[in-house]
Amino acid sequence: MTIPIPAMPSPVSRTVAVIGAGAAGLSAALELRREGHNVVVYERETQLGGTWVYTPDTESDPIGLKPTRKIVHSSLYASLRTNLPREVMGFRAYPFLATGKSGRDPRRYPGHGEVFEYLKDFTAEFRISELVRFGTEVLHVGLMEDKKKWLVRSRMRNGGEGNDEIYDAVVICNGHYTEPRIAEIPGIDEWPGKQIHSHNYRVPEPFRDQVVVLIGSANSAADISRDIAKVAKQVHIASRSVQIELLGKLPGHDNIWSHPMIDSVRKDGTLAFEDGNEVIADVILHCTGYKYHFPFLETNGVVTVDDNRVGPLYKHIFPPALAPWISFVGLPWKVVPFPLFEFQSKWIAGVLSGRISLPSYEEMMVDIEAFYSSMESSAIPKRYTHNMADYQFEYDDWLGGESGCPPTEEWRKQMYIESSRSKRILPETYRDQWEDEHLIAIAHQDFKQHIT
Ligand code: FAD
Repeated sequence: MTIPIPAMPSPVSRTVAVIGAGAAGLSAALELRREGHNVVVYERETQLGGTWVYTPDTESDPIGLKPTRKIVHSSLYASLRTNLPREVMGFRAYPFLATGKSGRDPRRYPGHGEVFEYLKDFTAEFRISELVRFGTEVLHVGLMEDKKKWLVRSRMRNGGEGNDEIYDAVVICNGHYTEPRIAEIPGIDEWPGKQIHSHNYRVPEPFRDQVVVLIGSANSAADISRDIAKVAKQVHIASRSVQIELLGKLPGHDNIWSHPMIDSVRKDGTLAFEDGNEVIADVILHCTGYKYHFPFLETNGVVTVDDNRVGPLYKHIFPPALAPWISFVGLPWKVVPFPLFEFQSKWIAGVLSGRISLPSYEEMMVDIEAFYSSMESSAIPKRYTHNMADYQFEYDDWLGGESGCPPTEEWRKQMYIESSRSKRILPETYRDQWEDEHLIAIAHQDFKQHIT
């Protein structure tokens, strides 16, 4: 199905529904309003912040597979501190500064509560709350019969009536850290131990004196293994990507070991790793990431999620057949999220008003096919489609060029590279010791233009 992209006299104000009031939805709302659009943000929770709203609650299914389970949105654990320095992490238009106010966390890599407070400050500064309908869950987004406008069906979460509204465009910002992916393990159905996904990990106490095998190698696996090791008997980290020289006991810890991936488990509780080593474990903790999930979106098969590829999408944002009326903010991962949200949102806002032109449907499809082919010829798995580790700043700057906004600051790129290096070589201490004071000074100089 191809909806012709009409020529738009510019600038045109559109009615736009934004789904989600996390960092992406807040940024989208701000940029859309700046461009002159009429924006309604739907947020199913009673407060803004998405991921950054910590809750001790966990889901009824600890592994997160049952579709009927009670859903908890956030995956934060109590001890979480940011994995980016605040200078890099914050929105470009609103630097993430230590405010000096009482009760706030001034650290450079602050705890999650400080990010939540920062998002509240950002929202207050730009009066975004007035655009948000809190406690309102979107149940359905689909094309109207005339194939020109979008129907958004929502429901108040406290049990109110369903409500249908019509928009020119919908911007999807529902986050992608809620629907767990788990590892497939031969023998797991008969294994007597407990399984949990990191989405439902909050505090180490339930793992006291237990033998825990944790699967994964990303930030959460690194943090949670150390958190649990404070109380657990043993922590074993199984990972597909661990280097051979790093196998064995983790330096500086007497109860954490690194292993290759799990080979299989048995009904006597034994768990075997691919190198033949075995342990008898109480718990398997899957730090194995998440799936993109858009249960409300009905596009008659135009947009699909296939092995975690949301597609086809032009520049990870617009499905060509529905552009620019459906768009996604925040799909890329291994990125600096907040500034990326700003770049994406500015582009979407400008395209919707007609200030920025998109290529034709055919040209967008050719671009997408070329991208998929290049992944295939480099043997990059489909599920890495939105992994931007190698080109996030190039991507941001392309969007910035299209939108007429300045490219990523040089200090931010360098600081990101430096903090990634530091995380790799000093995993225990990178949040509290650093050597890039010179970059911090440049960042603060730069921030002055945004501080009134
Ligand atoms: P979310 O924050 O998930 O927001 C999505 C919003 O959509 C939610 O409020 C949700 O309630 C709402 N929603 C969903 N479905 C519906 C619906 N049907 N109807 C209405 N509303 C709906 N990033 C960093 O920059 N630094 C870090 O240190 C960092 N650490 C992280 C640690 C963890 C454990 C995780 C999971 C993520 C971390 N991130 C970090 C990434 C983080 O997810 C992003 O920073 C950012 O918060 C994502 O914002 P978002 O708006 O895309 O999604």
